[in-house]
This record gives sequence, structure tokens and C-alpha cells, in this order.
Amino acid sequence: MSLEELIKERIRRQGAITVADYMGLALSHPEYGYYMQRDPFGKEGDFITSPEISQVFGEVIGAWLAHNWQLLGAPEEIALVELGAGRGTLMADILRATKHISGFHQALSVHLVEISPTLKQKQWKTLAGKHERIEWHESIDSLPELPLLLIANEFFDALPIRQFIRKQDGWHERMIDIENDELVFINSSDATILPISIMPVDSIKEDLGGILAGGMVGKNNEEIIETCEPAIMIVRQLSEHIATYGGVALIIDYGYTEGSKGDTLQAIKYHAYHPVLNNIGTADLTAHVDFLALSQAAQSESVNIHGIVPQGAFLMRLGAGERTTTLCQVSSHEQQQSLISGLARLADPKEMGELFKVMAIASKHITQVEGF
Ligand code: SAH
Repeated sequence: MSLEELIKERIRRQGAITVADYMGLALSHPEYGYYMQRDPFGKEGDFITSPEISQVFGEVIGAWLAHNWQLLGAPEEIALVELGAGRGTLMADILRATKHISGFHQALSVHLVEISPTLKQKQWKTLAGKHERIEWHESIDSLPELPLLLIANEFFDALPIRQFIRKQDGWHERMIDIENDELVFINSSDATILPISIMPVDSIKEDLGGILAGGMVGKNNEEIIETCEPAIMIVRQLSEHIATYGGVALIIDYGYTEGSKGDTLQAIKYHAYHPVLNNIGTADLTAHVDFLALSQAAQSESVNIHGIVPQGAFLMRLGAGERTTTLCQVSSHEQQQSLISGLARLADPKEMGELFKVMAIASKHITQVEGF
């Protein structure tokens, strides 16, 4: 049975499903989910991520993490955590770049939070022999009770979102149903109350229906807002962890920093956009990250939020330009070309430099952080 058949059968049995249910099944169904069976990265894959574009990305982030370890008072035990580690390239670059920092590696245990068995295997191979203590986790629930140095690059965009469309009588959830044996988007017939419990309090406007305002016109000229409950929950939990044990968490992803962007659900296959409801489980499915919602979820009395800044500015402030120059001095002509075009791709506002955003959650006493 294909994933499409499986989803159709579920809809026939239970009725229309939410976008979040659809996204969750498409990406992480244990047997057919997109991430579960394949390595989606690189030229032959569906998309390419920053650590796969240039080693400089991981190297400057490694230096940033080590610097923050020092700001935290160089604790003797600290957990270096990555959420959704892909091929393990970023972690390998971080470890290589920080090897010479006195006492740092001795203090570290490495923790990779990963759902995909295929990618776990890949990470294990990439990282073999690079550190003595590496553990894998299904979720952040089992992270050790230690200070954290955490990185999440293009992790939050893979978490399931819900979509709500504004009509005269209120908000209707966007759902997926079957019409003439095809999967189609529909709007739930009854107006629904937005999951306000997960929404930041200060963006709740008390308008007539007591419903949430601030939505934008989506691709189909309808006012749509998106919520990502798992992202909010994860950020809350990480903030609590940092408030209790100390640490910093660096979140990098494509997304927006104010209001709503409308419908941002997108599928990518072979480096091109793909219809969201076609070839389920064989195309990547993501949504832009609502950074404002994340920063509000993290805001508590006991942590500091740094950012949100564009990736290009962040990387250049961390010295990505200088690092690229240094590497070029010891590289072949071909390598130089690839280092220079890699940096441009990561930092140029016309490429990933502006669309990608960076935010950090840090212990309360860390009031200034490099890069922000
Ligand atoms: N950070 C990597 C990979 C980004 S792709 C890089 O920059 O190259 C998203 C990663 O998150 C994949 O490794 C995917 O398997 C993992 N992932 C997706 N949803 C997840 C979840 N709910 N829990 C843990 N890992 C998840």
C-alpha cells in the first residue's frame, strides 16, 4: 500500500484530516514517511542545507558554541545537542572546529535528536570516531539534566502546522479530504476556536468574535494563519531547561518575524516546488517558521532571547568571511570557487542571507551574544 492509499483509507474511515496530521504522516510515518527511509540531501536529493553548502557554516557555529560555553563559566559537563541532524555534517564540522579549545571536548557529551532511522545511521557513520560520547534521542524529553549548547538548523520547518482560514463567521480549519478519489483541501464547515492556548497572549486581539487577528492573505487570496503547536511546545521546554540548568539554544531556519505570512506550506522534490498533495512521502514538506511565535513562547522571566537577525548578517558577524579567506589560502582553485560561491549562497540577501533567520535562547546572565 502507498502512503496516499493509507491516508485515503484513514479519511474514508474517520473523515477529513488536518494539515498537521497530513504533514506528520507525509514526513514521519514509520514505514513510508519522507524522512524515514531516505537521505534527501545534496545534488542528487531534493534539497541542500547550509552545512552541506559550506564547511564554514558549521565552523563558525562551532566557535560560537564554544564561546558560549565560556560565557556559561566553562561548566565541566555540558550537553551539545542537535535537533534533526540530517547527515551529521554540521555536528562533524562543529566538533572539528572546536577540537583545539582547551577543556571543551572533555566537558561535552553529544546528543542527537532524530526520528529517521536512515539518517541516524548516516549520522553514526559521519561521526564515528569524532567524539567518545554520542547518544541518539527520539525527542527532547530524554535530554540529560545538564547545561545545554543546542543547535537546530532547518528542524522547525519540518514540524507539522495547522492552517486556519478567516471567513465572515470566524475561523475555519483547512483540512484534507477526498473528492472523486483525489485528495483535496477543504475548509471545515463549522467555524472553530483557534488553539489560543498555544498562541502568544499579546497577539490575541479581542475583536468581535474574540478571535485572533493578524492573518494575511495567502496564495489563494484568503486570509490564512498557521500555527505550529509542536514548535511552541519544544521551545517552551527548551527555555525551561535553560532556565533550570543554564545554556544556549541557536535556532536557524527560513521564516518570518512579524504577523503571519499566509499559506507557506510547500513541497520540494528534486530542488523544485511540487504540488503539496502529490507523491506523498516522496517530496519534502515544510512550512515557514513563525519566529515571533517562537520568541514569545520562549519569553519568560528566566531566559534571554537574542535576535531575530538575518542569517547573512549573523554569519558575517561571526567571521564567515575571514574564515572563507583563510581556507581559500590553502585550497585548490576549484575549492576556492566552491568556498566563495558557498559563502555567497549562505549570506547574500538575495539567496539564503535574508530569508533565513537566527534566534538564540540563552541563560538570563548572558545579556550579549556574538552575532546579534
Ligand atoms: N539540520 C540538518 C537537517 C535538516 S532536515 C541540516 O541542516 O542539514 C530536518 C532533519 O530533522 C532531518 O534529519 C529529519 O529527519 C529531522 N526531523 C524531522 N522531524 C523531526 C522530529 N519530529 N524529531 C526529530 N527529528 C526530526
